[in-house]
Amino acid sequence: MKEIKELAQIIKNAKTITIFTGAGMSTESGIPDFRSDNGIYSQEDNVENYISEYYFEKNPKDFWSKFKRIFSLKLMGNFDPNEGHLFLKELEEMGKNVTILTQNIDGLHHKAGNSDIIELHGTLQTATCPKCKTKYDLKFINEHVIPRCNQTNKKGEVCNFILKPDVVLFGGMVQHFEEALNKAYKSDLFIAMGTSLEVYPVNQIPVYLNSAPEIKKAIINKSPTKMDYLFDIVIHEGIGDTVAKIKQYL
Ligand SMILES: [Zn+2]
Repeated sequence: MKEIKELAQIIKNAKTITIFTGAGMSTESGIPDFRSDNGIYSQEDNVENYISEYYFEKNPKDFWSKFKRIFSLKLMGNFDPNEGHLFLKELEEMGKNVTILTQNIDGLHHKAGNSDIIELHGTLQTATCPKCKTKYDLKFINEHVIPRCNQTNKKGEVCNFILKPDVVLFGGMVQHFEEALNKAYKSDLFIAMGTSLEVYPVNQIPVYLNSAPEIKKAIINKSPTKMDYLFDIVIHEGIGDTVAKIKQYL
């Protein structure tokens, strides 16, 4: 309880807050954690091989069939933001400058209405034509077994390229990493929420911030992480419960 009060006080004083979220942020919306025991990783073989840049280049048709099966639940897109997501929107409404750096690809921070979101691992909500760069939405992706670009060029020819998901694939580059790090450096408060800080390179963000002791750092995660020592405030509880308690002191 002491930690909750302390964090609430720091939030009150902070003007600029960077939030770093992971899978634990979305589990309370019913989206399973990829890496947990009952997550997708244990059920599907070779996810890292198939959901990769290499496999997309090699066999884009089979890539899409595997991609759709592995992400079938998330691709339905019918999840709603939970108390945790909504809390971050409320911080914005309190007048804080809030930046969200997320590892999640489910788009729920957007759905909650936050205005400054960096999706480090991309998003499932769209796919892009590698040739002409046209973007397509989730509806289009779901309507086609193998989604292909339907744009027509000046000669009247259909582009027809197989689309590529806007998710960062294994072997692909994390997006906007430097921008994310710069935002974090400029904040008064950095909160990691629902992340076990195991995924490289984004888990290096709190390591970098260690060189900036003036930035207050907190982590809210159900279980301990190897990086807990980097944080001033450590809370091992669910996000919904924690934000409900914090709100009592705001
Ligand atoms: Zn195209």
